[in-house]
Amino acid sequence: MNFGPGRMSPAHRSVIKKKGYKKAIHSYRHGKIQWADKQLAGMRIDLRKSLRAQQSGRCYFCRQLVLQERRNACEDIEHYLDKSKLHYRKWTFSPVNLTIACHPCNLQKGNRDLGDAAIRGSTSLRVGSGSFRWLHPYFDDYHRNIEIHPGWVYAVKASAPKAAEAAAMLRDLELDQIERIQQTRQRYVDLLERTVVLMDKLIERNEVNKPRMKKLTAILKTLKDELRWA
Ligand SMILES: [Zn+2]
Repeated sequence: MNFGPGRMSPAHRSVIKKKGYKKAIHSYRHGKIQWADKQLAGMRIDLRKSLRAQQSGRCYFCRQLVLQERRNACEDIEHYLDKSKLHYRKWTFSPVNLTIACHPCNLQKGNRDLGDAAIRGSTSLRVGSGSFRWLHPYFDDYHRNIEIHPGWVYAVKASAPKAAEAAAMLRDLELDQIERIQQTRQRYVDLLERTVVLMDKLIERNEVNKPRMKKLTAILKTLKDELRWA
């Protein structure tokens, strides 16, 4: 299976640099608006698309598919260094601070502080700024540190250059817990059922040739592969 890139690249820098978003970013920096403000909605959508493509639709942390919630399409953009902390607010729009994460990982991560004192005091976010508690999406290689076995069993590689960080990440996110594995399976089964219901509706309405059918078929195929693995 393709679990997404080992080390991410800040390709979405171009999204943040778009002229149209300059004013909203400026307002955020001056504390006039929040991240969730509608002035930033376009940028969030673009960012999400770019990150999703790079991450093959998977969560950076657990590498499982991020299943799209219909209610809030922007909730899964994850700031590696928590933007709600005053000392990390300056990196809200830093490309190397952004990933896509699934809801369960997001919850487990909470508002954990993943940087040390050197990073908190640093003016730039790069390799050497300080130490991170977990693997860093842009500075470390996930696959050189963690291997994923069928059934979503995670292990730190024997040759891992960042063994302590990889172990802390798996432990903190509770990726070693059986409950999370069951949860994953259930989420996939739920989506599978939803997809089949939508396909049935299209069939009933004689709309099998609509592009939507193609999309649903693709989701079904992905889920089939995924469930075989899980
Ligand atoms: Zn996850």
